[in-house]
Amino acid sequence: MKYVEKRKQIVEYGNKLLEEKLTTGTGGNISIFIREDQVMLISPSGIPYPEIKEEDIVLLNLEGEVLEGNRKPSSEYDMHRIFYQRTAHVNSVVHTHSEYATVFACLHEEILPLHYIIGSVGNKIRCCDYKTFGTYELAEEVFHKIGNDKGLLLGNHGVIAVGGDLPASFSVAKDIEFIAKLYYRARSIGKPVLLSDEALEEVVEKFDTYGQLRTYGQE
Ligand SMILES: [Zn+2]
Repeated sequence: MKYVEKRKQIVEYGNKLLEEKLTTGTGGNISIFIREDQVMLISPSGIPYPEIKEEDIVLLNLEGEVLEGNRKPSSEYDMHRIFYQRTAHVNSVVHTHSEYATVFACLHEEILPLHYIIGSVGNKIRCCDYKTFGTYELAEEVFHKIGNDKGLLLGNHGVIAVGGDLPASFSVAKDIEFIAKLYYRARSIGKPVLLSDEALEEVVEKFDTYGQLRTYGQE
């Protein structure tokens, strides 16, 4: 079996999705791109995360053909592979239906910069139009809308987060839910004071220079 360490990482982060309350049941999916071999590993369809073993992770090429594995790949693999086909920097994608972010996705409402952590995603969290799950049409819509951001709300669906590796894409998925929860709560009792583009630019520079320190509190 190839890429055992990377398979283990997907198993581990699948369980983290549950621990961090970013998904329930079999929702969401995770992939890693092995750029040197132009292949990707993705979580299987329909198996609860605690039951997923390394051998259940599916190896695909960028045409979406299964190279190794007896399981069915996640039905949303198009949304992952489009980033590996078309970018030089994305090597991992995490997709969730995390609750607060999905509330805004159902409203087709972008999340505005009310907290500096949003700098790890973009200067706001945009939302793309609704397209049927598991279609290349959805993948195209996501890819078109995300631009240079690291995360996006999927209209009437959920969240996508991308990064240079799995810890990075997972961290973005977590940040999106954190910000969405703040935005929901702040909006329910008042009008959040938004950060300026200049303030966010400074944050992004600091993140780039020092690495993204994950020291803020979460429930
Ligand atoms: Zn989904």
